[in-house]
Amino acid sequence: MSTIAIYPGTFDPITLGHVDIVVRASPMFDQVILAVAGSTSKNTIFSVEERIELASKVLEKIQNVKIIQFNGLMVDCAKENNASVILRGLRAVSDFEYEFQLAGMNRKLMPEADTIFLPTSEKYTYISSSLVREIAKFGGDITDFVPKVVKNVLIDKLAASSR
Ligand code: ADP
Repeated sequence: MSTIAIYPGTFDPITLGHVDIVVRASPMFDQVILAVAGSTSKNTIFSVEERIELASKVLEKIQNVKIIQFNGLMVDCAKENNASVILRGLRAVSDFEYEFQLAGMNRKLMPEADTIFLPTSEKYTYISSSLVREIAKFGGDITDFVPKVVKNVLIDKLAASSR
């Protein structure tokens, strides 16, 4: 039996912290599905298609990773894709309360799946997509936070939107 893990998120955009989680999870499971949220209450800078394209470019060398879009309930997407593990990254204690609550809700909705948390690697603990967007907006250097392709696309996007 193969074990499939789903790693859901907004990924607006994918950061080195997200990549680190996928790279470390990849040998643990037969497949890791990075599920990009289409319908989100968050005001995203990138469309879901753009977020998927960026994630695909960044993760193309990892054989057992699949990138998909999901709309609506994450657990429905997990069921459709036969995932039995929900993967989430934990940066700091401040993430824990929300993530613990989310895991509890998801367990209620899908008792056959379990949430697994991977603590982020130390050097990525302070990285968040929202801070990356904010720093880039004001011309700060985001080289250490996102893959190169993401940096370039984000800078282009911000330049285009300020025209
Ligand atoms: P969401 O909109 O669900 O918060 P995100 O795209 O922000 O989605 O993040 C998806 C997952 O990746 C979450 O579990 C989040 O905690 C985790 N994550 C975000 N940033 C990092 C990071 N720097 N290191 C490790 N995990 C992270």
